[in-house]
Amino acid sequence: MIAGIELGGTKTVVAIGNPDGKLIEEFRYPTTHPKDTLTIAVEWIRQRGLPVSLGVGAFGPVMLAGRGDDYGRMLATPKPGWEGFSISAFLRTAFPDCRVVVETDVNAATLAESRCGAARGLDDVVYITIGTGIGAGILAGGRLVHGALHPEFGHLKVPRSPVDEFAGLCPFHGDCLEGLASGPAIAGRWGVDASALAPEHPAWEIQAWYLAHGVLALAAITAPSRVVIGGGVAQLRGLHERVQAEFVRLSAGYFLQAQTPDFIVPPALGQNAGIFGALLLAGGTDL
Ligand code: ADP
Ligand code: ZN
Repeated sequence: MIAGIELGGTKTVVAIGNPDGKLIEEFRYPTTHPKDTLTIAVEWIRQRGLPVSLGVGAFGPVMLAGRGDDYGRMLATPKPGWEGFSISAFLRTAFPDCRVVVETDVNAATLAESRCGAARGLDDVVYITIGTGIGAGILAGGRLVHGALHPEFGHLKVPRSPVDEFAGLCPFHGDCLEGLASGPAIAGRWGVDASALAPEHPAWEIQAWYLAHGVLALAAITAPSRVVIGGGVAQLRGLHERVQAEFVRLSAGYFLQAQTPDFIVPPALGQNAGIFGALLLAGGTDL
């Protein structure tokens, strides 16, 4: 048996699966303090057996470089109790003979979408989520990208839309991509929740501008063959087509991806990408 945990800012999903990463059973509950949250997951797994391998997709920032003492430790986060908490140390103590693999939630989702979702079979994939925050997972040459920390796509500086005067609400940078284009940023700019804005509202032209600049940076640096955009805000009808059209305009005939009609697509796994990815990580995928 293997197990997976998706640790989200608001909810946690724990699951068991068979050794090739297929989900057998899952359980969802709210994320609270780290020890309480992981104890629930550990007890739930123990009631079903002892896993040989455990994959975790976690919200960040989380240390992933190397396999030293810092691996799997949460860094500066406003979520109470989480800063400095080591996810991997806690889980290794709970399951001493079990392999523990920790990844970002977005990298787990990227892995799942590239194995069995909207980017199936591709080795160069970016998965972007646009919800309360903005983040991206990157698969390059079949490997998940960590870098010295892990990518922080949401905090990319993007050119301002000429028709946008919103100051931006990132507590660190003000008008970074997350500060300008996350769900709360849209709500802050227009005074209503993003889900209440009709597809023809001018909000979406500004949104497509910012997202296309983000995708352009990704295309220029990691050269993916597909970009999957998910998260609550990506549920808007037609958003992917608008971002793709804006990306084509910005690329000015230069990027090969601009000639690919399905370069920017919605996810195929929906809410399940994170937990499927956690199980794939546990399933021994060498990344
Ligand atoms: P989280 O990031 O907390 O996991 P979500 O990915 O569900 O949450 O994103 C929540 C955001 O998605 C909210 O800001 C909400 O306004 C926005 N949202 C939810 N549904 C829609 C929709 N149909 N169209 C546009 N935005 C939406
Ligand atoms: Zn920022």
